[in-house]
Amino acid sequence: MTERIREFLRKRREDGPCLVVDLDVVRDNYNAFAKALPDTRIFYAVKANPAPEVLSLLTRLGSCFDTASVPEIEMVLAAGATPDRISYGNTIKKERDIARAYALGVRLYAVDCKAEVDKIARAAPGSKVFCRILSDCVGAEWPLSRKFGCEPAMAVEVLEHALKSGLEPVGVSFHVGSQQRNQHAWDRALASAAAVFRDCSERGINLTMVNLGGGFPTRYVKNVPSVKSYGTAIFRALRKHFGNRIPETIIEPGRGMVGNAGVIEAEVVLVSKKSEEDDVRWVYLDIGKFGGLAETADEMIRYPIYTARDADEKAPCVIAGPTCDSVDILYEKQPYALPITLEIGDKVLIGGTGAYTATYASVAFNGFPPLKTYHI
Ligand SMILES: *Cc1c(COP(=O)(O)O)cnc(C)c1O
Repeated sequence: MTERIREFLRKRREDGPCLVVDLDVVRDNYNAFAKALPDTRIFYAVKANPAPEVLSLLTRLGSCFDTASVPEIEMVLAAGATPDRISYGNTIKKERDIARAYALGVRLYAVDCKAEVDKIARAAPGSKVFCRILSDCVGAEWPLSRKFGCEPAMAVEVLEHALKSGLEPVGVSFHVGSQQRNQHAWDRALASAAAVFRDCSERGINLTMVNLGGGFPTRYVKNVPSVKSYGTAIFRALRKHFGNRIPETIIEPGRGMVGNAGVIEAEVVLVSKKSEEDDVRWVYLDIGKFGGLAETADEMIRYPIYTARDADEKAPCVIAGPTCDSVDILYEKQPYALPITLEIGDKVLIGGTGAYTATYASVAFNGFPPLKTYHI
């Protein structure tokens, strides 16, 4: 919560929840990544917050971009970045979208199987490809499961297939899971990456790049290690597994770049109980799972919530959104302590909401408009 955001909210007149992102914080985050990992190129994961103001700021700072769709590529180009600063990092792409990306100048693509290599060989001939390997995501609060990546042994086959198909196999990628609170999580993934490098080298394929993915956390309720400590742990792991032949590296921070730059202001719509004897209060806000807080699914991401009454005594509540869908509950299994004096009409501030909020908001579920956003 920065003074600039506080000032902006003091002056705001409109109704309804809104997200305010302080671009100075995004700039500080970018600089902290650049300093913590000085030999690594930064590919900002656009999906975390694709606001034009964020993209043009990062373009000016020298960032590259990890994109997952043609519209994301177009947004990055519109922000002024050249296509050589863009990777098409989604492993699941339609061939005609690959062709569009190629026509826009994109030459770096992610794959995790031979069928995807075939599409790229046809639609983006001669391009560079990296193969994503599976990661167990232990230690991540928002794990990414087995949806992306293949076993390291298969990655070798995929990369060899790429070479035979006229593409340029450049390396390996992985993602250790989002909101990864253990800075040593990269160690195991880098061991697998190094094994792929060795096996490829035996087949005459010289890989040069490791894409270290995202996963860098933002501070929610609990403290997280500093970016610097991630940089140190990653560098040590690179040394350990690659010796003095450390490859080119890139990172794809999303949450860690923008999460702490944003605050959502919301309003208490109702405070109620389910029976006279029940002492659990239900606090209904004007924002919920469909208004931008989708990452509260399974209560995985626990946002800090601030009120003007935080000095008062607190008691556990269930917190829910305003829509008529019963999944629109933010915290129930692990109730959330809010001031007992909290009243209908009070404003609440939800911290750490600069990433994965605004674009997750539904178009008009129950008639509620998408989240208003301001980037200042
Ligand atoms: C979403 C995503 C990221 C960003 O992950 P964070 O945990 O937000 O840093 C990076 N790389 C890829 C391929 C992604 O899909």
